[in-house]
Amino acid sequence: MRTKSSGAKVLKKATRPSQEALTRAVKEKALSLGAHLVGVAPVERMESAPPELHPRRLLPEARSLISMAYRINRGIQQLHLRGPSPMPFSRFAGLEPKIRLDDMALDLANFLEDMDYISLPIPANQYYYQEKGVGEISHRHVAMAAGIGRLGRGGFLVTPQYGGAVQLISVLTTASLLADPILKEDPCQGCPQPCVSICPVQALRRDRDRVIVMDGKEYRYGWLSYLRCQWGCGGMVMGDRFYALSDLPMPSLEEEDDSEQVRVEFLLAGEKRFPWDRANRAAFQYNACSKCYVVCHPERLKKGEQQDR
Ligand code: SF4
Ligand code: SF4
Repeated sequence: MRTKSSGAKVLKKATRPSQEALTRAVKEKALSLGAHLVGVAPVERMESAPPELHPRRLLPEARSLISMAYRINRGIQQLHLRGPSPMPFSRFAGLEPKIRLDDMALDLANFLEDMDYISLPIPANQYYYQEKGVGEISHRHVAMAAGIGRLGRGGFLVTPQYGGAVQLISVLTTASLLADPILKEDPCQGCPQPCVSICPVQALRRDRDRVIVMDGKEYRYGWLSYLRCQWGCGGMVMGDRFYALSDLPMPSLEEEDDSEQVRVEFLLAGEKRFPWDRANRAAFQYNACSKCYVVCHPERLKKGEQQDR
């Protein structure tokens, strides 16, 4: 009888490859599937993750995390920064990379399962628990743990190769893989911080940080106003190079990163937003602002190159 596998030889435990060989095979597979970057972290690097985002919540026996990144095409980045049309970005920087990443993650997980390691792909950031504003896991934190990049002033992952212009996905596995080191260099050092200045709704701040601990070391990255970013990306407000559907004043909240309160404000604003359309009043419609991470190319910025030309 023949069975269809994902390309890996089905190996008995006694003939399993060394940790080094297995890690190499996993990375080669990820790249062959279309990933532009791949890295590996031991699950312990996520120890300080909040319980609702901890990978072991989903796969208690997980030993390793695999992170893959898919870069955003530069022509589309530049068009998006200039602003004449939202469509190529929406399709080719938002939806399509996430569909591809989902496929890659499933194929990579099956590749590992053909070698008898239970593996779980976590969908790319299309799906959120709306009331909390989070997905199943924080792909950007996993990517940092796996050495693909560092969280920066804008709160997103900054990679040495593609700056902030990447989409991410993660696979959890019971395989014990060789870890990549966390990147030492802070990509924001010496950067003129265009991520902060380009934000049309002042969601990013130069003076407020979040702190995480990985491998016993503290790392700082930028705080984001959930209210402001959602108001911008949710199409509530018109602005420079924004594809908004309405122009409603930003509500005032004591804690702008209280996701539940932000959701309530969205529902209330929906009443004013589409008074003629009851079905869509409270719809949360993303308009894919994304300017902050598209403008982030630290190496080119330090050399004085413009990103929006
Ligand atoms: S644009 Fe500069 S400051 Fe902002 S996240 Fe990127 S590297 Fe850091
Ligand atoms: S996605 Fe847009 S609104 Fe949100 S922080 Fe970035 S630039 Fe600001």
